[in-house]
Amino acid sequence: MLASTTDHLVVPVYGTEMPLLDSTKQCFRKTKQKEVYVVQTKMRPVPLEHYLYTGNSNKTSNELFCILDQKGNFLLSGYRAALNAKKERASKVDESYGPKGVRQGNPQADKSVWLSLLSMLQKKDQLPVVAFTLSKKKCDQNAEKVSSVELVTSTERSHIISFFNKSLRQLKGSDRQLPQVLWLEELLKNGIGVHHSGILPILKEIVEMLFSRGLLKILFATETFAMGVNMPARTVVFDSTRKFDGNNFRDLHSSEYIQMAGRAGRRGLDNTGMVILLCKGDVPETSDLNKMMLGTPTKLTSQFRLTYYMILNLLRVKQLTVQDMMKRSFSEYYLQKDAPENEKKLEELRIKCKQLKDIDCPVCSIDLKAYYLAWTECYQLQKQIKNILFSSMQCQKLLVPGRLLLVTNANHKRSLSVILQIGGLGNLSSFKGLSSKNPLEKLYTVLISCEKNYEEMKMSDISTTKVSQEEEVKHPNEMFLQNDLFIPKGQCGQIVEEIIAADICEIVNKVIKVDLEKILENHKKRLIPRFRSDPPSQSTVIAGQQLFNLAKDFNDKVCPVMHPIHDLCLNEIKFVEKHKKFERILPSLHCFNCLDCPNIIKHFSLMQSNMQVKEDVAMLEFRLSDENLNLMQEYNQRIEVLKTLNYIDKEMNLQHKGRVAFEISTHEVMITELLINNVLTDLHPSEIVAVLSCFVFEQKKSSPPTLTDNLQKVVNTVKQIAKTVAVCQKKQGLNVTVEEFIEELHFGLVEVVYEWARGMSFKDIMNLTDVSEGNIVRCIQRLDETCRDVRKAAHVIGVQALCDKMEEGMSLIRRDVVFAASLYTS
Ligand SMILES: [Zn+2]
Repeated sequence: MLASTTDHLVVPVYGTEMPLLDSTKQCFRKTKQKEVYVVQTKMRPVPLEHYLYTGNSNKTSNELFCILDQKGNFLLSGYRAALNAKKERASKVDESYGPKGVRQGNPQADKSVWLSLLSMLQKKDQLPVVAFTLSKKKCDQNAEKVSSVELVTSTERSHIISFFNKSLRQLKGSDRQLPQVLWLEELLKNGIGVHHSGILPILKEIVEMLFSRGLLKILFATETFAMGVNMPARTVVFDSTRKFDGNNFRDLHSSEYIQMAGRAGRRGLDNTGMVILLCKGDVPETSDLNKMMLGTPTKLTSQFRLTYYMILNLLRVKQLTVQDMMKRSFSEYYLQKDAPENEKKLEELRIKCKQLKDIDCPVCSIDLKAYYLAWTECYQLQKQIKNILFSSMQCQKLLVPGRLLLVTNANHKRSLSVILQIGGLGNLSSFKGLSSKNPLEKLYTVLISCEKNYEEMKMSDISTTKVSQEEEVKHPNEMFLQNDLFIPKGQCGQIVEEIIAADICEIVNKVIKVDLEKILENHKKRLIPRFRSDPPSQSTVIAGQQLFNLAKDFNDKVCPVMHPIHDLCLNEIKFVEKHKKFERILPSLHCFNCLDCPNIIKHFSLMQSNMQVKEDVAMLEFRLSDENLNLMQEYNQRIEVLKTLNYIDKEMNLQHKGRVAFEISTHEVMITELLINNVLTDLHPSEIVAVLSCFVFEQKKSSPPTLTDNLQKVVNTVKQIAKTVAVCQKKQGLNVTVEEFIEELHFGLVEVVYEWARGMSFKDIMNLTDVSEGNIVRCIQRLDETCRDVRKAAHVIGVQALCDKMEEGMSLIRRDVVFAASLYTS
């Protein structure tokens, strides 16, 4: 379930698999030196309503039936109404035309469906809409069916035209005349967009940008649009819920449906998101609909693709035993040695898991879990942010005596405080734990503004760390309160307390003058039992009053709260990303239905403890899984292959070939073999890049290329070498047949790349193949990366001539529309 190409990796992850995700992330970061981004999709700030649409003409354009309401109730009445509408029409058609079953897949009928749908959505003010069409070709066809409808005003139209022209200015003349460019331009002018992998990257960017500005009213897109940039619409339409998965047509999986449907409803703009399923053929079965719309996402297991590159990378870093390496590369979850102990623990946890009580609450059943997941993410982000913040020099420089802070902990909630001294009250140790160096546990002694009651209670019994009037569990969202400052309701008081850095919720850009020493001295005196009931000293009261006055008219001018990025200048990318993400997710915590539950506090804490058990179980199961062992076996097999082919020696030291392969990040062994066998050196640069395209072109089937004799010869050699490698792998027990291994190389664009490198225009290139524009561009772009790898590898081997040829090859392919600058960066 893990879709992987060398530069993109899409891993759908659900709550219980968070630990797994972390290990995956680490592994990929280490081996590919690439960052991993997590896109969370479970949050649903805008509720969805799901409909069936049976309309197919002006007369029937209002045949829209709600079958799943905002709260997730399946509405049988709506479903029956859709069935009836369909049946009625079918009988009429039968009467007048005779043969059955011709209603589906008729282009003219299809067109009427789209037109009637569009007019209905227009009337209901439900545009813009993303129409998911699960094949590229059908995307194009559907767009053409509605191409004549003008969906934009004349002002919008002129915006679109000028944006389009401006964006294309960087292209050369003939590229601006490419059929796809002209075709899309006509559609865009009417507010209609198309987005899939066959579209040229620059056009895709134009479509995205126009759509995000609200200038496109309908966008025909494939699934990739749902996985990429966040571009919601008011309405999502499914052209069909059947999908071709490479071999067969099948129903959409629940996770796929949810991902795509989730594009409906724009936060802050729409109250609900509308999701519509077109019923062009028969109305789907209720069981199928239920499974798809409400089904629990299928549990996914991790599936690493163990590559030689990963192994070589690890071997290079340090000489380690296999076990050590497994531990290093696949994180602690792959640890073997504590298995028996873990099995016992797992057994206990499973029993505990079975005893868990479900939260029986109609309000919470809707989205408490989603809320929990979002909450957890915020919680963790906040912790990570604070950790970086309080470890920074910038922050330590600020936290000096006299500095104002806002403090939140068990006893205080955003209370204005002033630092009296760094370190604790008693022994002046700087951390809470004895051996702790955790920046979040760093101690400070502060004077905190509080209620007089609290002060008196606390002073009368100094031993209690927590003063709990009534044992109240807080609302989960209070953890992230950002606005209200504490102001005493009764008589104002102040108290000297130890806090840890984690209690600091804001640093205020102000240092005040208070008599630190006298306040501390007075506090210490009052800790002695016979002075306990003495009133606080003059200096303490004055400082307390000072805090109270500041708190009363606390605002951004008098006491600006410091922003960690803008004011503290914590610019490190990781920090900024975390901070931005936190600020993005935080507001959504207020948009969950379960917050309306009167027992939310209780139900949330129940959910929290339940999920903890489940997460522990999942993590242990994964640690102990067979997969772990399978991977170990594959690892050993691949090591043997590397030994046989002389990439490493018996002691697993990297050999010459190993060092060459290490420079190459895709098809590392195959390309190394080509280099070592001197297959490329004597070729012309245009021939070299053409041949290398077989390693980066991903489309399995395409029209066969017409090759020169020389190219054909090289292609045969490549296949021959692939066979040798495959046979060796098979011998070591790897589960890949010789045929499968050779079929991984796709020679479909060898001719195209050859002619492109020789200077043919993109327009003429398009006549050589049935591969679509976008896929050609992507292949050539990726080829650039492979060329770089080969150049580095050639350098390691010491063949300067090949280095030069690679340089030339790269400059030959890097031109025009293929390497047009991105609109996002230019
Ligand atoms: Zn509840």
